[in-house]
Amino acid sequence: MERRSRHTTPRSIRLCITHRHHKKKVKYVSYDIVFREIPDEVTLAINLSGCPIHCKGCHSPHLWQDIGDPLTTDRMAVLLDEYRGLITCVCLMGGDAEPQIVQQLLQFARRHADGIRTAWYSGRNEAPAGFDLSVLDYLKLGPYMEQYGPLDKPTTNQRLLRIHPDGTRTDITHRLQKKG
Ligand code: SF4
Repeated sequence: MERRSRHTTPRSIRLCITHRHHKKKVKYVSYDIVFREIPDEVTLAINLSGCPIHCKGCHSPHLWQDIGDPLTTDRMAVLLDEYRGLITCVCLMGGDAEPQIVQQLLQFARRHADGIRTAWYSGRNEAPAGFDLSVLDYLKLGPYMEQYGPLDKPTTNQRLLRIHPDGTRTDITHRLQKKG
């Protein structure tokens, strides 16, 4: 076995130290093809863990934990390739602890799967400062609040927005709600 001087830091460890602040990642616990979350789209929805929002009455409190597998761009590519031709949209559900990584993953999805539309289900009331909305076609905002109900209730506080290429937004929340 190769012996190293106690005073020499191996290159791999030096890299690890240098880049430790850039090692942020998001993890996913599951994914599914869904039809209702984004109107008129067949959506690959990827459920991210580590949610920092902690809504009272959360439907999935297990997603508060740091569980699942890293959602790398490589993994994203595999998922997009698996459903190529079947899906029209990819949606990251959560990821509020690491919005810059959400942005990078959705940017990657657009490059990798030509024509795919992108969506983010965030629990925040507004997009984080510095987030580039041009990577999105859809953005859901707002925490779950029991007294107002989920997106399919007319009383909901949550909003689903269509983000247009020129940066303008259209509120399409009503498209998720049953008429009558
Ligand atoms: S944002 Fe979603 S996952 Fe996070 S606490 Fe609220 S309802 Fe639960």
